[in-house]
Amino acid sequence: MAKSRKKSPPPLNFKGNWDYAPAPESTEPVQLKDHYELFIDNKFVPATSGNAFPSINPATEKTLATVSEANSKDVNRAVRAARKAYESVWSKTKPAERGKYLFRIARLIQERSRELAILESMDGGKPIRESRDIDLPLVAAHFFYYAGWADKLDYAFPGKTTVPLGVAAQVIPWNFPLLMAAWKIAPALATGNTVVLKPAETTSLSVLKLAEIIQDADLPPGVVNLVTGAGETGDALVRHKEIDKVAFTGSTEVGKNIRKALAGTDKRFTLELGGKAANVIFEDAPIDQAVEGVINGIFFNQGHVCCAGSRLLLQESIADLFLRKLKDRMETLIVGDPLDKNTDIGAINSKAQLKTIQKYIRIGEKEGASLHQSSCSLPGKGYWCQPTLFLDVAQSHRVATEEIFGPVLSVLTFRTVDEAIQMANNVPYGLSGGVWTDKGSKIFRVGKKLRAGVVWANTFNKFDPTSPFGGYKESGMGREGGLHGLLPYVDLKTTGGSSR
Ligand code: NAD
Repeated sequence: MAKSRKKSPPPLNFKGNWDYAPAPESTEPVQLKDHYELFIDNKFVPATSGNAFPSINPATEKTLATVSEANSKDVNRAVRAARKAYESVWSKTKPAERGKYLFRIARLIQERSRELAILESMDGGKPIRESRDIDLPLVAAHFFYYAGWADKLDYAFPGKTTVPLGVAAQVIPWNFPLLMAAWKIAPALATGNTVVLKPAETTSLSVLKLAEIIQDADLPPGVVNLVTGAGETGDALVRHKEIDKVAFTGSTEVGKNIRKALAGTDKRFTLELGGKAANVIFEDAPIDQAVEGVINGIFFNQGHVCCAGSRLLLQESIADLFLRKLKDRMETLIVGDPLDKNTDIGAINSKAQLKTIQKYIRIGEKEGASLHQSSCSLPGKGYWCQPTLFLDVAQSHRVATEEIFGPVLSVLTFRTVDEAIQMANNVPYGLSGGVWTDKGSKIFRVGKKLRAGVVWANTFNKFDPTSPFGGYKESGMGREGGLHGLLPYVDLKTTGGSSR
């Protein structure tokens, strides 16, 4: 089948190029040290091996700072510190006091949110508009939300008493560094656990700044510990004998390995893994809103979103019109400097991730799908990918079933509601989905049948700390966020025993 790099048709409403003057955010609020050490017992301490790795700004390819690499001895130190803090202090701290610490952390995050947002964009590549308006407000909101639960756990689980598990090992990815840290640390501390957290190797810096906030909040030493490093460090942490719970967010491949490693142990675990969400657009949908939702769903944060709407399922009767409008809108997206407030799509997080995306673009072309990319120019230095569509995609194509984790959207069409449901569910993942229609009854009919943890209706990628999040099938198990997010960190005791 012929492959084509299709030229876009003339846009419907577009009247020429919009040129915006650069509006970059100043990096002045971010003061970085040359080197960052591990954070154990409320102190920054060197790694035993003395090894370090660079944290690179993906928009400039420049090293922002070096970061200590923790080995198994360092992980051991951190777990010991967390255990001691759990037994001697945190498990005995009154719930209302635990709440006070969390409120304090939340307020300090708000005070430093501009600095943290800029750093998140420098280290991770996401547009400042997102880190400033989405990530940081949500980070603070998660700490506030779980601070509120700390002394109300009896109301969360009426008729039961909660007992913390002990030490939680937490491993997070690079797409929402501070937000993922908040999702993990806040419920663990609210329920009386202590933690050892490992950020992703490409985005440790904002989480290390969070360590400064934890110091400033006077959290008792050892309650939160951070070990930095790559997969080996994570592996040593999740396999450590003295932890009680693993909370992992990352790829399905690593999640499966962790599950195997934990088999036969009594450790509790939650796994938040990959996704391949379908955005299902019916012919009665508000088309312009749906186009915007699709753009937001896949190009938001460079497609570095586990719940990204990376498959577009279009009802055949509106496919031509929809695609025309979608391509027009893609032409207006600005790819470039993450710190510029006009930027829609920032830098791909790392060279390795850019290679993965490029590999999938080649795979899609080889499979016979038609490639369409916006005609925007890309900066010379750094890691970039223009917004990309694959048309004429079949359900069996790898670009329709595998997670790409970049700004690449695969388009398929359907005729009936049942066909749409079958296609949406026809992937190994089940993290999220979107339904766009004018009919409330159709939203409920389709929403109920989508095997996905989150289904948005006539919107996409909306988050709130009160709302649980998590997957079906290979997208993982367990829920984070909301009341449900407390449960993985506690045993529930009824009179006379534990539910565990
Ligand atoms: P990854 O699995 O490669 O890495 C995630 C984290 O695990 C990193 O900190 C990494 O250093 C660590 N790690 C790597 N190998 C390990 C091992 N053997 N043992 C323990 N830890 C190990 O994933 P990534 O590329 O950093 O992140 C992208 C993935 O994360 C995507 O698949 C995405 O869908 C998923 N994700 C899921 C959610 C969710 O809530 N479901 C949220 C964000 C990201």
